[in-house]
Amino acid sequence: MIYCVEDEENIRELIVYTLEATGFEAEGFPDAGGLWAALRRGLPELIILDIMLPGEDGYAILRELKSDPSWREIPVIMVTAMGTEYDKVRGLEAGADDYITKPFGMMEFVARVKAVLRRCSPSPGEKELRLGDLCVNVSRRSVTWKEQPIELTRREFQLLQYLLENQGLVMSRDQLLCQIWGYDFAGETRTVDVHIRTLRQKLGEAGNLIETVRGVGYRIRE
Ligand code: CA
Repeated sequence: MIYCVEDEENIRELIVYTLEATGFEAEGFPDAGGLWAALRRGLPELIILDIMLPGEDGYAILRELKSDPSWREIPVIMVTAMGTEYDKVRGLEAGADDYITKPFGMMEFVARVKAVLRRCSPSPGEKELRLGDLCVNVSRRSVTWKEQPIELTRREFQLLQYLLENQGLVMSRDQLLCQIWGYDFAGETRTVDVHIRTLRQKLGEAGNLIETVRGVGYRIRE
């Protein structure tokens, strides 16, 4: 079950419709009141949360969610019409798992929902990410390509893990900075390029899996 809080009726209906068409169960609410009532009935796998809402805004709702032990673990994707770096950072800093800027395409939206669910699903035993001959063991922090070990620094490992967990999605440099370095470095996007370069070098043949999307960022193809 996915809950969506969005006051604009047509966006809310489109989101619920798209999620249901993709095979999820979804329920939409125009404001915080509906969400609180629903949370008392049952916990969702994910909450889609608009920022600009009548009454309690998205940030206030997020704060409440994160301060309650029984709700804290529910992943949240913030939806923002504002799309400034400040808003993104503020949402991520407050504990959102991802943000998406309006207007957005439904394909991208669904890809992000799936990525957040993949990232947040509890992993029994060892967590491994695989793509062809590339194997990343998250529990052991080890990487192999065609069974051969590859040594990475902590940042390079996090970068590779994050790209793999978001397979198929383009991650902007700013997003990578926020997620991996923390927002303090915002603006220092060259840091990302330098790490991608060394990561590609160390991965050798597997380095080709990381695709540069000109003017935007990086992605690993699905
Ligand atoms: Ca709104």
